Amino acid sequence: MPSMPDPRTTVAVHVPDEAALGRLAAVLVATLPPRAFVALDGDLGAGKTTFVKAVAAASGIDPTGVVSPTFGLIHIHEGPQGRLVHADFYRLTAPDELRETGWEDAIAGEPERGCWVFVEWPGRIAGLLPAGRIDVAITIDSETARTLEFSSDSADSAPLMQALAAWPEASRARR
Ligand code: ADP
Ligand code: MG
Repeated sequence: MPSMPDPRTTVAVHVPDEAALGRLAAVLVATLPPRAFVALDGDLGAGKTTFVKAVAAASGIDPTGVVSPTFGLIHIHEGPQGRLVHADFYRLTAPDELRETGWEDAIAGEPERGCWVFVEWPGRIAGLLPAGRIDVAITIDSETARTLEFSSDSADSAPLMQALAAWPEASRARR
């Protein structure tokens, strides 16, 4: 009998400003499993790159090195907690191009070390997104405020989802 997937949990978190984004990033760093794939959805300017910067800073990586990849589509940052892969597939026209980017090696990381993968414009590689990933949809509420909706069906992300649900301005939905 095929095993049932874990139930999908969704938590929407209201982030009033970038300072709050920093606090949210600290929650992520404390609760993300050592290997995690995070797909970041949202319009241009929603705050996908800014979110990755905040996670980098909270995990001891110099956030000034986290910029929109202009030439390469993938940036690898090695930090104290392991590897942080930051990919932006806005300019990817066909998933086939991924083969030329070193994608497989980048997301494999090194054995025994953590590897977090953050992908902007994940829709460009829709068929290649791994099961058990964490989906984040960012929407713009105002000049400084955003809503981040986290969603995952992986038991590995339960500590993260629980911590997010305890966030002061979170609303939780189970689908
Ligand atoms: P994207 O990568 O989604 O295209 P960016 O992260 O490059 O977007 O840009 C988001 C912009 O919005 C940045 O200029 C950032 O300073 C600003 N911003 C303002 N408030 C927030 C917030 N709460 N969270 C994220 N970004 C914010
Ligand atoms: Mg960006």
